[in-house]
This record gives sequence, structure tokens and C-alpha cells, in this order.
Amino acid sequence: MLKSVLKHYWFTGAATVAVVASAAYFVAVGEPDSGKTVKNPKSKPKNKLSGLINEGNTCFINATLQALASCPIFFNWIDSVLTRKTSDITEHYLRTTCSLNMTMAVINNQHPTIDVHTFNSRQLIQSLEKHGWNLKSEEQDAHEFFNMLSTTIDEEINKNNKISKGISIDEQATTSVCQPNSSSPFRGYLASQLCCLSCGHKSVRYDAFECLSIPLPKLDVRNAFTMLNVEGLLKQFLAAETVGEVQCDSCSLKNGKSVFLKQLSLGKLPQCLCLHIQRCDWTNAGQLTKRQDLVRFSEELNVGNFVYTNRLSGNFKPVTYRLRAVVEHLGMADSGHFVTFRRNIVDGRTRWFYTSDTFTRTATFDEVLKSSPYMLFYERCT
Ligand SMILES: [Zn+2]
Repeated sequence: MLKSVLKHYWFTGAATVAVVASAAYFVAVGEPDSGKTVKNPKSKPKNKLSGLINEGNTCFINATLQALASCPIFFNWIDSVLTRKTSDITEHYLRTTCSLNMTMAVINNQHPTIDVHTFNSRQLIQSLEKHGWNLKSEEQDAHEFFNMLSTTIDEEINKNNKISKGISIDEQATTSVCQPNSSSPFRGYLASQLCCLSCGHKSVRYDAFECLSIPLPKLDVRNAFTMLNVEGLLKQFLAAETVGEVQCDSCSLKNGKSVFLKQLSLGKLPQCLCLHIQRCDWTNAGQLTKRQDLVRFSEELNVGNFVYTNRLSGNFKPVTYRLRAVVEHLGMADSGHFVTFRRNIVDGRTRWFYTSDTFTRTATFDEVLKSSPYMLFYERCT
């Protein structure tokens, strides 16, 4: 699927599309020679992934891109969004989406023409800067970058007002961009249910998320070495809590403000689940520190206990996600390095890889399990 679409964009599409896409390709690889396979002196073996060049403190970008490229549901979605675009005008406001698509294809060894050991994400960075993001500041964060990229892709795909001035969009093209099924597979909804403890009145609100940012439990020196796990952190994050002084529509006239029970649940499940573990903390002296807590995880994650409809019905049927990638932060809060453990399919078989900027190698799953997760990427399998 991916290859066929890329071929469409590079070779067989309408002439205008091919010209625009080829231009993007030159910028990315710096080679003024279209139509030929771009190779390093020795073509990389097919069981290798491409690494990503560090453009100066960009390991947070590289680690996130490797993680995203390990999620087939996500890159197939990007691919299908671009497939729907048949007019060259869409290129102008889909430049980040196009750059991301190309980068993922290259690092996954799936690009029809670019076959390199290392690749740079300069074109993607430039496209984000054109959207107003500042990526040249000090050390940045993989979670922030994920949010920045998600927001931009969403804007490009769903918002007409991001179209460059002077480019007219015909009705048909605009309609295809705005299809309601264009939301990212990382898009889920948290259901926030409030129940008045005085009268039992219930209300529920849904808030969209692309990534669940999960806090660690309050640091307790007595339990400093307690082993945490992802299911436990989710349970704590999605546990019921009481909130006071809330006006109840049903009984406020009688009792004034009421105490409510607030329960967060997974209201709408995403196809791809991104979890961010909040490791940054502030000391009493106001200094930023990094929590080094061990957080265990497994290959499969069952979130059935946290699903809103399951909780309502009392039928906790399993909902399983399979691990695709782990982004790890090495070092301290204000410095350090991001690396990624990720899956890729080689000759029809899933294998794990370790990636650190340009360096990539195969990894055992034991190594993956021993890593210290900062972000976890899952895809739904049931
Ligand atoms: Zn009430």
C-alpha cells in the first residue's frame, strides 16, 4: 500500500503532482537526480532500519519519528490521507504530512527510490517551522514534539484556513480534506463522568487526546524502590476521586454546591495508543528533576477495565493493545538523550530494533523490557 502510493506520488501521478513531490524529494536528500535509486556506496541490508541524522539536539525528533514509523496503522492512515489527494494544490498545505510520510517510508526501508543508511529530517523540521513552531531552541522533548507534530498534521488535514494565501481550493478538493474520518488513529476521547453525591445526578464530558500523559505517584522515600507498572499507573490515573464545590444542575437550588465523584475513563479508544510517563518533577527548591522510577510494561496491554462502556455495563471484556515502540530518555532532566526501541517487519517477521540517531541495530525483546519507558506506543489488536 505504502509503496504503491509513493510510486503514485513520484512516478505515475499527474504531472503536476510528480513535479511538486520530486521537488520535495530533492530538498530532503540533497540529490538533484530524480528517478534513480539514491544509495550510499553500499546499499543497506534489508534487515536494517535507516538511522536519522542529528541536526543539533534533534534526538527528540529522531526518537519520536522512529516510534511513529513502527506503527503500521498510523503510517497506513497517513498514506491513505495522501492517496485521497489528487490535486497538486494539496501539496502546499500538506507539506508536514508529506515529509512525515516520506521519512517513515525511508527509515522503514519501504521507499521505492531512496535507500540510504542515514536520512535527515530537515525537510520535516522546515515544514514545522513554516507552521510557526520553534525547533531551534535548547534541548526539547519527545512528548512535546509528538504533540506538535500531531497538532500540525491535524491542522493540515482538517483545517481550510491553513491553506497558503493565493492558492485557491476548489469545492471538491476541500470536501475531500474535511472528511470526518480524517482524525488521527492516535485520537481517543477521555470520558469524564461526574456524579453528584447528594442527588445522584450524572453528567459526562468527552475530551479528545492524542497521547495520555500519566503522572507517577507522589514520591515517597520509604517506597523509593517500589516497582511500578503501566497498568497500575493507568489504574491510578483513571481512578475515581471526589471533587467539592461543584454546582449541580439537579439539586443546587436546594443544597447549594455539592460534592461530586469524578471518574475518568477511556470513552473512545484510539487505534494507536501513546502513553507518556511524566518523569519531570519539581523539587521543593524549585529545581526541575527527573524521576528515575522503574516502570515495567509488557508486550500486551489490556485496557478493558478502563473503558467507559465496560464500566457502565460491568462487563469488563478485554481490549488489547500490542507494543510497537518504547522511547527512552537517558540522562537528567535538563540534558540527556532520547533513544527508541521499536518493531519493524523484516521478511514478514517482526523484529525489534534499537535506534539512537544514526545508529541502529537489532535488539532482543528482553532488552526492550529492561528499558526505562518515557513514552510507549501501542496499536490495538482486539
Ligand atoms: Zn445533585
